Amino acid sequence: MSVPRIAFRRVASFAVIALLTAVTLRAADVSYTVALTSPAQHLVEIQIILPPGPPTRELQLPVWNALYQVRDFAQFVDWVRAKDRAGNPLGIREVTDSRWRVDGAAQGAIVEYQMHIDSFGPFGAQLNSHHAFFNLAQMLMYPVDARNSPLTLHFSQLPSGWRIASALASPNFDFHAENYDRLVDSPVEIGDFKEFDFDESGGHFRVIIDADPSDYDPDKIVANLHKIVVAATSWMNDRPFGSYTFFYHFPRGPAGGGMEHSYCTAIDLNADTIKTTLYPLNSVTSHEFFHLWNVKRIRPQTLEPVDYTKENFTRALWFSEGVTSTVEEIIQLRAGLIDEKQFLTSLGNEITELESRPAHLTQSAEESSLDAWLEGQNYYRRPERSISYYNKGELLGFMLDLAVRESSHGQASLRDVMQWMNANYAKKGRFFDDSNGVREAAEAVIHADLSSFFAKYVAGTEEVPWNDFLLYVGLRVEQSSITVPDAGFIMSRNFNGPMSVVAVTSGSDAEGAGLQVGDVVTEVQGKPAAEDSEQQLARLRPGDSLSIRVRARRGTERELKWKIAGRQEVSFQVKDLDQVTPEQRSHRAAWLKGEAETGRTPAP
Ligand SMILES: [Zn+2]
Repeated sequence: MSVPRIAFRRVASFAVIALLTAVTLRAADVSYTVALTSPAQHLVEIQIILPPGPPTRELQLPVWNALYQVRDFAQFVDWVRAKDRAGNPLGIREVTDSRWRVDGAAQGAIVEYQMHIDSFGPFGAQLNSHHAFFNLAQMLMYPVDARNSPLTLHFSQLPSGWRIASALASPNFDFHAENYDRLVDSPVEIGDFKEFDFDESGGHFRVIIDADPSDYDPDKIVANLHKIVVAATSWMNDRPFGSYTFFYHFPRGPAGGGMEHSYCTAIDLNADTIKTTLYPLNSVTSHEFFHLWNVKRIRPQTLEPVDYTKENFTRALWFSEGVTSTVEEIIQLRAGLIDEKQFLTSLGNEITELESRPAHLTQSAEESSLDAWLEGQNYYRRPERSISYYNKGELLGFMLDLAVRESSHGQASLRDVMQWMNANYAKKGRFFDDSNGVREAAEAVIHADLSSFFAKYVAGTEEVPWNDFLLYVGLRVEQSSITVPDAGFIMSRNFNGPMSVVAVTSGSDAEGAGLQVGDVVTEVQGKPAAEDSEQQLARLRPGDSLSIRVRARRGTERELKWKIAGRQEVSFQVKDLDQVTPEQRSHRAAWLKGEAETGRTPAP
């Protein structure tokens, strides 16, 4: 838990006059100061004060954070130096590209370095003339021998009018955390943001918005947040926090994504998108909010403790991410933000997405989880190479829900599985054993064996027999062949990287026009390439003209034009069975409306 700065001050001054033990305790704190030295140049200067201790200390800057991708944040460290408390220089040298060793630090040391910080969005750290948003693990080195020690953080040289928001403490210039991991789980917004507060279901909520006020309606957003909080906390029958913060950025350029934390979430959405509809805001907020349980507290052992020096491999992302997407749909349905028709349409779309990727027959949900670290690579993102653990995991969440309901004769559901994991792992400070831990929970609530489900569909690549699962609720999938527009190529981007061509269909007009794998797409139909470019392509009809600007690997930029072709694709829709029995109807009502659910937490 974080200690508000005011309480810390009281303890510290009391310690000075009276208690030697308390002085020793406070003196062990590692103290950080982040100076916003040059916002326009994206430069910060960071000072770390190490307390007295061993003569030789090592400092490590994480190589990954927020995304399951090694991003080597040390590339942005311009220089590093060290001195003693009196200001005399100390020796400091690199041990690896992300680790430094200071000598002569027995009486304490001051380490200073400058970083260039300009990665936008909820997965990055950025300082510019407009604001700062910091994921602190991307900036702060930790003392290797004191990662679990308490520490303090101070920001200096703030431009006038800028304020600080963090889930760590009330807005102030100093923050205190019990250890490094807790500190870096609390991103910080600094700037001239708007703040809205509300109370709901016994908790206090802060909404920090960095956007042009003409681009959004705070009343509508807060009204939806109330609904999401009620739906999620009542579904979990739990609220493991007193206060929670929603950070939103609505830039007028490329945006998209949300990042979960234990006591907050950071979400970026394009301003034009949220002017049209709050649907993306509702869905990403439901997803990130549910993560405060699933992945932050209900956490796989393979992600604990975090190793910041290299990839952390886990088989559990199909559950930690994918089943979070399942519950994201359930929360929205229960909150009244989507209706049953939209819920089932979305289920059909997810099935279409999985079935359209040939790799669903070669890569399992567990392998997709392990391979998350390859997602930054263009080749890996091809449909023949990989599936998404979000997509398959979400579908496995729905199928597991139906399987649990059927085998427990309606006495248990996915909700009970999640509550069991909350009670038996999260609340007991334990971590679960990846897919085995999920299976243990599901089997505990239904008192039956689920090894075949996990062997075939989680660890294996067998086709999921959708109709076998859907039968319980009187539904089935209907396949239809539809003509879809085909531009002859696939493009994708790695979070805030450029939009790149990852595949070109052989013999297509795209190939004829000279498009090549690796080309960077800069414009589509005269508009800058962004996350909505693929939807833009999907809206074109066979025969329509397409115009894109691309930059080749060697830097030459050119405009290419060709006509959109048509291609047959199998689409899956979730439909009623021809004869739906009253029993199936009541199962469906329990599934979609939450009727006859126990909501209890069974004993382990
Ligand atoms: Zn997620």
